Amino acid sequence: MIEEVRRILLQIGEDPSRSGLLMTPQRVDSARRYLTSGYQTNAAELLNRALFVVAYDEMVIVRNIEVFSLCEHHLLPFFGKCHVAYLPNGKVIGLSKIPRLVDMYARRLQVQERLTMQIAETINSKVQPRGVAVVVEAQHLCMIMRGVEKQNSIAVTSSMLGAFKDNQNTRNEFLNLIHPKG
Ligand SMILES: [Zn+2]
Repeated sequence: MIEEVRRILLQIGEDPSRSGLLMTPQRVDSARRYLTSGYQTNAAELLNRALFVVAYDEMVIVRNIEVFSLCEHHLLPFFGKCHVAYLPNGKVIGLSKIPRLVDMYARRLQVQERLTMQIAETINSKVQPRGVAVVVEAQHLCMIMRGVEKQNSIAVTSSMLGAFKDNQNTRNEFLNLIHPKG
């Protein structure tokens, strides 16, 4: 990718040989590898040996997980918070794996809606809980920096499965936990 970045620099009217830009193609290449490293792993690998049989059956919630991703339409960042909850049904997932699962899908080219669904559906299929809820709240640089320039707008997407979809009390309990009043 290094040669392509040099070409882009030329195309926008820059001089890739000036000192500030000399190492830029290498830096862009290594940043790009990191930001798309989610393609190098998969859910089965990530959750391998992280599922445990536990009698706990109350809601498990991990909120305010930081999300950094790239929108697939502009290759510009979108970033914000992700909240994940599920209702165990005999099995739980190691808590530290939930942010890692979010990172795995975020470090790919994404649209926020698909990112939200992929997190929910993966937990649903691997943990087979009574329900899963995922909410992502994010700001998109493609909206903020260009075009509409709505600097404070936040896109909110959610995926509710099982009990979170069917039972309003369960859904409300989750929503109150992620956005406590007062
Ligand atoms: Zn975009």
